Amino acid sequence: MSKTQSNSHNIKTFVKTLQNIILDGLFPVRCLGCNDFDKWICDDCHSTLPILTQQHCPICKKHETTTGQVCPECILKSKNSIDGVFVASHYNDKLLKKAIHYYKYKFVYDLSKPLSLLLAQSLQNSTLSSPDIIIPVPLHKRRCRWRGFNQAELLAKNLDLQIPVITDILLRVRYTVPQVKMKNKNKRQENLTNAFKVIDTTKITDKNIMLIDDVITTGTTLVECAQTLKQSGANKVFCLVLARE
Ligand SMILES: [Zn+2]
Ligand SMILES: [Zn+2]
Repeated sequence: MSKTQSNSHNIKTFVKTLQNIILDGLFPVRCLGCNDFDKWICDDCHSTLPILTQQHCPICKKHETTTGQVCPECILKSKNSIDGVFVASHYNDKLLKKAIHYYKYKFVYDLSKPLSLLLAQSLQNSTLSSPDIIIPVPLHKRRCRWRGFNQAELLAKNLDLQIPVITDILLRVRYTVPQVKMKNKNKRQENLTNAFKVIDTTKITDKNIMLIDDVITTGTTLVECAQTLKQSGANKVFCLVLARE
């Protein structure tokens, strides 16, 4: 880092800290569960967040599978696509739903820590094999500017699994309507076709990849990411999410 860069970095950190001090004074952080001060989710409330004990095939959403892998019937229909989706918790849990909402739409990026912890806890008892690399589902730069951060990237970075987190090879190159606003399945598929691009295939060739996202809605985004990665030489692509919306 050059001196000028480092100075501007220091100024940014200073402004951010000052901003946090002022905001904490005006709007002190309170637990989203019990309203207690200091943390967005206090330890007691965090321990009430449920961990899913059953995983399902992400394609048919019916068949129960041990790690959320695609069931044998669906494998035939979805060649070269996603290998599975491991879901950490229940979206119908009130606290989790509220936390995800605050994280994504009220821009409380500090919630990435307790939410990453939930992801890590869910993996502890699973038989999911370790990936070679982790890739957070990318946001289009326009959407990233709007939110100020990529929610999947912060979750991946705070997971701290000692596995490289790679954020600069899978890009979202088309700005698309958020999937959650689209009801029609064909339209959703169309909306995301060619939305992603791999810019350096050498880092993913023959690699087993874990994609990370906050929630799975229809699964179209994850399937599209997985297809793009596999067309570029990836071996297996599994995904880890907080909940199924
Ligand atoms: Zn609490
Ligand atoms: Zn299935």
